[in-house]
Amino acid sequence: MRQNDWTRILGWPGYTVYQQEIDEKAKTLKLWVRRKRGNRRLICSGCGRRITEPADITEREVRDLPCFEYRTTVVIELYRVRCPDCGLKIEKVDQLPSKAPFSKRFEDAVGQACESASARRVAGQFALPQSTVRAIDRRYLKRWSAQRRRPALRHMGVDEIFLGKKTKFVTVVSNLESGEPLWFGVERKKETLDEFFRSQLSARQRQRIEAACVDMWEPFAVSIGEWAPDCAIVYDKFHIMQHANKAVDEVRRAEFFRKGGRMRDVVKGKRWLLLTRWVHLSGDKRQQLNVLFRLNRRMLKAYLLKESLERLWTYTYEGAMLRYLKSWTLQLRWQRLPAFDKLAHLLIDHVDGILNYCRVKVRFGVVGAINANIKTLLRRGRGYKDLNYLLLKAQRMAATRTEFVAFRKAA
Ligand SMILES: [Zn+2]
Repeated sequence: MRQNDWTRILGWPGYTVYQQEIDEKAKTLKLWVRRKRGNRRLICSGCGRRITEPADITEREVRDLPCFEYRTTVVIELYRVRCPDCGLKIEKVDQLPSKAPFSKRFEDAVGQACESASARRVAGQFALPQSTVRAIDRRYLKRWSAQRRRPALRHMGVDEIFLGKKTKFVTVVSNLESGEPLWFGVERKKETLDEFFRSQLSARQRQRIEAACVDMWEPFAVSIGEWAPDCAIVYDKFHIMQHANKAVDEVRRAEFFRKGGRMRDVVKGKRWLLLTRWVHLSGDKRQQLNVLFRLNRRMLKAYLLKESLERLWTYTYEGAMLRYLKSWTLQLRWQRLPAFDKLAHLLIDHVDGILNYCRVKVRFGVVGAINANIKTLLRRGRGYKDLNYLLLKAQRMAATRTEFVAFRKAA
């Protein structure tokens, strides 16, 4: 094969192959490239300024995509430039996005593989250490993020995710229309959300926010009221049903301790069954719950109350929704279920924001789906010490919809 052919196969714009080496035993291919005659564009890699004269020449070796069964490395002849701003710097070359020994298209291939597989699997596939795969993935995502256009924020979602014992809660702000997380903040105080409004949005952008789906959590409502006073607060189904599930769980625990002996065994291990909707349970699981309900009327009542609360969002007319909510709270009388009395008070205190569901049309379920996506990433990635990386990953996931987790459980 002539060098001319290697140049065409390699396909680095502006570069020509002047030497090659094939090792059949090791299955490696090495190509030496330099600028084509006439390619005189010199750019400082520090600031992007155009430079007329090179200072000196150096060489770098990077791994590129494999050629058939041959692992391919490219040795590139590079210029160094004397930049008035940055001093002595290496020139900027499109195929060399960073100081790491990989070509841009190699990094893109690794990054794309990371979109649907764990870093551990990608590391095996490319014969790279896991830490290198993560570093490549992070650069790949940063490049993607830097060049894309961000949709305007009109409907925002605010949610908290429990990251583990160390980081504890992280506040997640998302764009409900594009379905992507926008920002992570450590903790879940008023100051946390304040920080988002202050650091991420201009005054005009804050004004444009029409609605916010949040949990019934006072600090968030206060922050929104201060920074985006015209924005309607919507207490969404996802968060309210989380409270309902918590109430069912409280009843379960109380019953577990109140009653001894046989009852204890029946209640034991039923937590997930009780938190799952009836329509999602198999016949066998329903049977297990029925046994529990026959023995314990309070558990049955709590479960039915949770199930019937779901119907609140079948109403699209405010008056009907309010009527249904009132009749739901009336059912609680004489039931002696303190956890549900507490929930009812919470709902009545926030009724305006609940009814906003009928007034402002926001995409429900997105908050829950983003929440589930982040949890999938956490489960797979194990230890995202770098919150920025986790955010980029979740944004990319939403943008590509590769594994957008359907909002199944509580929808
Ligand atoms: Zn420079």
